[in-house]
Parts: sequence; structure tokens; C-alpha cells
Amino acid sequence: MASAKKLPCSSKKLLEICNRFPTPFHLYDEKGIIENMQRLARAFSWSEGFREYFAVKATPNPFLMKLLGAIGAGADCSSYTELLLAERCGISGEAIMFTSNDTPAAEFIKARRLGAVINLDDISHIAYLEHCAGLPDLVSQRYNPGPLRSGNAIIGHPEEAKYGFTREQIIEGFKLLREKGVHRFGLHTMVASNELNPQYFVDTAVMLYELAVEVYRTTGIRIEFVNIGGGIGIPYRPEQTAVDSELVSRGIQEAYERIIVAAGLHPMKLFMECGRMITGPYGYLVTKVLHIKQTYKRYVGLDSCMANLMRPALYGAYHHITVAGKEDVAAATVCDVTGSLCENNDKFAIDRKLPEVSEGDVLVIHDAGAHGHAMGFNYNGKLRSAELLLRNGGEVVEIRRAETPDDLFATLDFEKLATFS
Ligand SMILES: *Cc1c(COP(=O)(O)O)cnc(C)c1O
Repeated sequence: MASAKKLPCSSKKLLEICNRFPTPFHLYDEKGIIENMQRLARAFSWSEGFREYFAVKATPNPFLMKLLGAIGAGADCSSYTELLLAERCGISGEAIMFTSNDTPAAEFIKARRLGAVINLDDISHIAYLEHCAGLPDLVSQRYNPGPLRSGNAIIGHPEEAKYGFTREQIIEGFKLLREKGVHRFGLHTMVASNELNPQYFVDTAVMLYELAVEVYRTTGIRIEFVNIGGGIGIPYRPEQTAVDSELVSRGIQEAYERIIVAAGLHPMKLFMECGRMITGPYGYLVTKVLHIKQTYKRYVGLDSCMANLMRPALYGAYHHITVAGKEDVAAATVCDVTGSLCENNDKFAIDRKLPEVSEGDVLVIHDAGAHGHAMGFNYNGKLRSAELLLRNGGEVVEIRRAETPDDLFATLDFEKLATFS
């Protein structure tokens, strides 16, 4: 089933929003995000204690995190400042999953203070964590299946990935943790990114369930939860189909009964840490046409650039584009849609068919709600845009203002410069 590329409101309303807030900006659809999160939780309601830890890095805006937290999502954090954001949103204790790698001591200390579930990336981190912050009651380990699992396009082959413990280290690590007094254990993996095949996630759960049984048989250790990570893809292209959470859930439930219940290991909790699938389809980059240029090709130049949305330039990713108010005009003009960076790959689309556009037209770039604003940067002196939230009742709230030149220069000392020669 193809995915319809719709705006979160009428184009009339969108143009009104553009009159109130200067473009470019990211616009998030509260209703879409909340209903999406609730659908996921409902799909997994068979699994007692199921929790989705929203991957903060996808959309690190505390207003969105707080909305998600209020309907049961936790926060999956991987850095010090992501932990601080979770804390500011009132998310703490085991509602935080701390999945980091190459981790500085200060981050383990902060995670411990917040009572987060600490998910270790390496066997050597057991001693490191013990030394810098002390071992908590509950520790999770990240599994890297290596050659036992074929990879996916974005993350690549697991044996080439820097993350996680080998199979032998998982067993050894749990024994070591037990010797050191830990008595609650979790098992995690993350082997895919932007994956649209639902079976992939069922296979991931099967892999962890089988490993949990092996851990139990060889060590007597009972795993309290498995965390199958994030990586559920979204249909960036209109002809693609969203992953059916119900289908994934049924497949995992069947595996749970066949493997975990049969081995006498029920109850075992199931966690996820999706980012992209939660917010991705419900965020839009709203931007205006500045210039139309006709040389060897036709260029539609926008008031935004890859500093606002890097995915097309970084991965050659497709992002659908709607011209607001011209939804019914035939997409008959082929053009490159560009930003203003002094980099020729600063293009949102190449050879894209769009309705004939003019200067001042509002373009909406779809599926920018995850890894969009978050991947923003300041190269070429570009300033990050505002983030707006379209609330359930239709009201629009600014949930992050746009950067100003003062923000960009905040780390420079111009007084020192005045006397510097
Ligand atoms: C990036 C990441 C996620 C979220 O990935 P999505 O593709 O946004 O679902 C979850 N867990 C870890 C460890 C990650 O690095």
C-alpha cells in the first residue's frame, strides 16, 4: 500500500502560518506523532511492561519528548546532553535507556545519578563503569551478531560495525556482572537503520530470544528484558509502504511463545528504541522559493539549505516535495531544488518533476521529522531554523526559536579580539 504524502493541515492554513513565522522552519504535527506512538504501544499490548524508548537523537526537542513521555514513552539517550534533556522533561529512572559507545566517564556518572538503564557497548566497560560510577542493580549488554546476521544498507554488515559485544563476550560479560553483584540483566541489539521489511524486526527478536535462552542454559542467568533497538524505516517515497507494527508484533509474539515461554523464561519484557518511525513522517521542512535559475538545467533555489535537512545531500535520500497551494497542478517541470551552501551537493532534489513554481512559493519537504533539524549544522555560517508544533487543536506553538548570529558567535570573545594583534 502506497503512502499518501499529505500536509498536516490545509495549504491555506500552512500559508497563514508562513505569514506569522518566517521561513524556513520545521513544523511538527502533534496529532500525527501522538496517534502513531499510541498505535505502536497498542500493537504490543500483549507484552507486559512493553516500552518504546524514543531515540532522542532523531528529534532532540524537549517539547516533543515531554509529549511522548506523557503517553508512556521513555527516552533513549546516547550522550551527556541528551541525558540532560531527558532530565529537563521529567523523564528519569528506568524510563531512560542509556545506549552509548566509546563512553566518557562523566556520561556514565550522569546516567547512574538519573537511575537510567545502562546499556553497555563493550565488555571492557564493565570495569570502567564499576570504577567511575559503580555498578547499578540492572545492567544491559549490547549484542553484535557479527557474521551471524546479514546487514542492512545504512548500518552495513554487523562485523564491520563498531558496536556491541560478540556472542562469547555476552556470556562472559553476564557472568562477570553477576560476580560483581549485579542481579538484573538486559539484552540489546541494533542491527538495522531505516529498514522497511517487517520480517527483519521479527528475526531480530528471535535472535535475542534464542540468545537469552542460551545465556540461561549456560549461566543460569535470567534476562529481564530484550531491547530490539530502533531502525524501523519510513516510506520516504510515495510508492513505499510503512512497516506494519501489528504484523511485527504478531511475529514477535509468536516467537516469544515458541522460544521464551517454552523455555520457562516468561515473563521477559520487550523494549524498542525507535526514533525515525515515531516522528519522521510527522515533521515538515517549510521553505520558500527565493530564485529560479535557468542555465544548463532549471534550478529552484530555496531559502533553506542542507544545514536544515542533510539527508538528501548526505545519503542521496529521497524526500517528497509539495508546492503548497499547487497540489492540483500537474508536476510537469523538471528541476533541481537547491539550497544556498557553497557545496554542489546542496540539493534537496535532482531532476524532480514539480508543478511550475514561482518566486515566493512555499515548498513543503516531507518526512523531515527525524534526523532533520537534529542533523543541522553551521557550516558556511548558516543558522538553524525554528521548530514549530501544530497542536491538536490547530494552534501553532514555537518549540525552538531560530538561531541568531549572536548564537553562532557565542563561543567567540570579541573583546579579546579588539586587543588582539
Ligand atoms: C540511532 C539509534 C536509534 C534510533 O534509530 P532510528 O533509526 O531513528 O529508529 C536507536 N538506538 C540506537 C542505539 C541508535 O544509535
